[in-house]
Amino acid sequence: MNYRHAYHAGNFADVLKHTVLLALIEALQAKPTPFAFVDTHAGSGCYALDSVEAGKTGEYKDGITRLLFPDMHGSHGKTEPLPPLLRRWLDAILRVPGNESGLKLYPGSPLQVANAMRANDSAQLCELHPEEATRLRDLFHHDHRVHVHQRNGYEALKALLPPKEKRGLVLIDPPYEAQEAEYRVIERALKGALQRWPTGVYAVWYPIKLRSQVQPFHRWLQHCGVRRVLRAELLVHPDDSPLRLNGSGMVILNAPWKLDEVLRDALRAMAPLLSQEHPAKWRLDWLLEDSAG
Ligand code: SAM
Repeated sequence: MNYRHAYHAGNFADVLKHTVLLALIEALQAKPTPFAFVDTHAGSGCYALDSVEAGKTGEYKDGITRLLFPDMHGSHGKTEPLPPLLRRWLDAILRVPGNESGLKLYPGSPLQVANAMRANDSAQLCELHPEEATRLRDLFHHDHRVHVHQRNGYEALKALLPPKEKRGLVLIDPPYEAQEAEYRVIERALKGALQRWPTGVYAVWYPIKLRSQVQPFHRWLQHCGVRRVLRAELLVHPDDSPLRLNGSGMVILNAPWKLDEVLRDALRAMAPLLSQEHPAKWRLDWLLEDSAG
């Protein structure tokens, strides 16, 4: 339990994760009936970018900041307008109270989703670390749509699924402190969750260091009984070193119809902006596709 998201908030991995998250929330909101959002690893909900932690790594400067100032990165002087999904995502972050005069706060997944939710949508947030959970609770104490649980998010799925709304999204965003063993924990959690709620949408974030570390998880997904699994990845370094975060990905089980179309322009636009010494590479493909939808 050493991981603190404050060191990483707004980095290139958050840009991918939270853009996909917005696309998923928007897809769920295409229908008027309420949805449930379950965040198994919620973090503290909001991060000050002038904190000691954020200042130590400066990771957000190679993440969200690159999108805010696109003419300074990747486009060699010719600035293309951001595609609509990325624009809406950035605008939502800049609308967070405290960001009126520029980016000071980076909202985590709970706050980004809560800010997009409608009156009847609901959120169940799990966070195991006591201090992070306390911050999360403080952030949402006034919001009756949001429920904070200080408990193991994998375990909590047994109690939280299926949600009463019968439609919604589970975000699984662990810190991977157990390294590759984390994937086996995720697989067990997904297996149980899919038995209880086969029609839920599940989004799992994963780090990419060595490609071979993530391949068994992708193979497991191809046999997990779900008919549609979309994969979105962005690599800022080659995926051949175990020593650093070379990129990250999201897999989306029961991905909403046409999610790939919504994400393609966003990934294409974010790659050159997030490039470091090599051009960033992106990938968007179906690990499993049911053409009938
Ligand atoms: N989802 C957040 C976001 O996008 O803003 C970031 C979450 S951060 C990557 C992972 C969080 O999981 C940390 O705050 C950590 O304390 C918490 N955590 C670690 N193990 C956990 C567990 N088994 N259950 C719930 N939370 C856990």
